[in-house]
Amino acid sequence: MDRSDIYRATLKKWGEKAQYEQMVEECAELIAALKHFERGKIGRSGVIDELADVTLMVGQLTWMLGENEVATAIEDKLRKLSTLLQDPEGR
Ligand SMILES: [Mg+2]
Repeated sequence: MDRSDIYRATLKKWGEKAQYEQMVEECAELIAALKHFERGKIGRSGVIDELADVTLMVGQLTWMLGENEVATAIEDKLRKLSTLLQDPEGR
């Protein structure tokens, strides 16, 4: 199974609403992990684990919402960031 097959099967098995809920939950877990990492309560592997969960959900939602549109939005944002980085007054 490639990633698209997995995203399709996931959507079919649990439905669209569950994917948005899962993304919110995984983002919340990553936020909590980052706070715990900051305070030394967990190590890098704990952050990496939550980052992997969020990355998978980013893939799932990107696939659902349109990979080309998301890629275009990312390119636009990278262009703006690049412009900002070249501006000594940029914030
Ligand atoms: Mg998680």
